[in-house]
Amino acid sequence: MSETMKQDQVWDIAVIGGGAAGLAAAALAARSGKSVVVLEKAPSLGGRSASRRGNGAVWNLGAHALYRGGAAERVLARLNVSAPGGSPGPLVHWVPGKGETVSTPGLLLGRTLNGVEKRRFLRFYLGLRKLDPHSATGVNWNDWMASNGLSGRAADVASALARLSTYVGDNDRLDAGVVLRQLRRSVVYPHGGWQTIVDGLAARAAEAGAVCRTSANVTGAERAGETGGGWAILLSDGERIRAGNVIAAVEPALVARWFGTWLPTSYEAALRRQTPVYASTLDLHLRRLPQRNRLFALGLDRPLYFSVHSHWSRLCDDPEHAVVHVMRYDGERKDDPEASRGELERFLDRLQPGWRELTERARYLPHVTVMHGLPDAGMRGVEGRPAVDTGIGGVYVAGDWAGPEGILFEASLASAEEAARLAVQNRTAERS
Ligand SMILES: Cc1cc2nc3c(=O)[nH]c(=O)nc-3n(C[C@H](O)[C@H](O)[C@H](O)COP(=O)(O)OP(=O)(O)OC[C@H]3O[C@@H](n4cnc5c(N)ncnc54)[C@H](O)[C@@H]3O)c2cc1C
Repeated sequence: MSETMKQDQVWDIAVIGGGAAGLAAAALAARSGKSVVVLEKAPSLGGRSASRRGNGAVWNLGAHALYRGGAAERVLARLNVSAPGGSPGPLVHWVPGKGETVSTPGLLLGRTLNGVEKRRFLRFYLGLRKLDPHSATGVNWNDWMASNGLSGRAADVASALARLSTYVGDNDRLDAGVVLRQLRRSVVYPHGGWQTIVDGLAARAAEAGAVCRTSANVTGAERAGETGGGWAILLSDGERIRAGNVIAAVEPALVARWFGTWLPTSYEAALRRQTPVYASTLDLHLRRLPQRNRLFALGLDRPLYFSVHSHWSRLCDDPEHAVVHVMRYDGERKDDPEASRGELERFLDRLQPGWRELTERARYLPHVTVMHGLPDAGMRGVEGRPAVDTGIGGVYVAGDWAGPEGILFEASLASAEEAARLAVQNRTAERS
């Protein structure tokens, strides 16, 4: 137990989960003068935003790009966390199931697309800024493409871009409004990996006085009853943490499990409707890149991604070395892990032949959860996600499945900001 904690302490706010959402919520709430404790199950902070350092290179958990100009930048700026880095260039290689890989100029000038497909794709792509995401909300990506003249290879290219910016490959569910918003955005790969963001958030939380406890595995919650100590959070070692307010920055299934007894039925149903989106990732540290001119590629027929992140951001001590992320967008499915790995390796064989002999380290992770809430057209994209306020007094949620703003990391930070605001407001009201 930390020196700053007393056995019978009642915290203003207990944050469950020390990922980016939990850390951002903790930092913001503690800045408002509230006593805050973060309870994180893992031995270290950061959750899915954490990177791994070793052998002179940094890896994120799979490919990670920070979207600019939205909630993530807003919250990071509020907390004075900077994440400088580089942005990937426009030169994409397109990899068809059969036949030659083509660059973007080759795609637009060669025979991969016929004349009509080229014109329609260019009209869509060059007109992106004029398209109205709001009117596309509630329409699935397949239907939107069909009603905007995108078919055949033009639809394959547009779908690869939609997948790239949302991580969702199920065009029958993916909300077109979300796609149109995401496709306008630029991204940055932070220097030092996403750990730079995690370290910044953890530092701001600590500076503001929040106490972060790692290896603190929450197993449930109980109403504590007495005035000012609304909740008891139960840990697996039997400890009970008392807090007036709770921010659950964990997956929706855990919120339903721990707070189901008190949740409004409609809210619990919204939690259960959230669909996780998976990816299988092969992260590589190479001593050298066999093909220096191939830095970014997307599959045309298969949901595959390849990027040399270290080309744009500082991730390797040795400038000759490269950090490469290869990924398959698995959607809602969990296929055979070995088959997925084989597909990723064959993809890499086509782009970077000889990579095996140059591998310093490799990590394959099948079916990691990219986000807990697929932006489903049937739920009007992000509009249908569970609210940050659960409807139980003093219990709020944050994560990439909560609240009506952004997707992925951006949704986590936007909901964290709102959860901190509501918890601080509620605690202040309880005390006055
Ligand atoms: C392969 C991959 C690629 C991605 N690419 C991008 C990208 O390009 N751009 C982007 O914006 N986002 C991307 N993301 C998504 C982004 O990483 C997440 O949205 C973000 O990290 C989620 O943060 P979070 O704090 O909401 O959740 P998490 O990071 O999952 O944090 C939840 C925390 O709660 C803890 N916890 C769970 N159970 C308990 C318990 N019982 N007790 C205590 N603690 C508990 C967990 O250990 C974890 O630390 C990607 C994710 C993956 C996996």
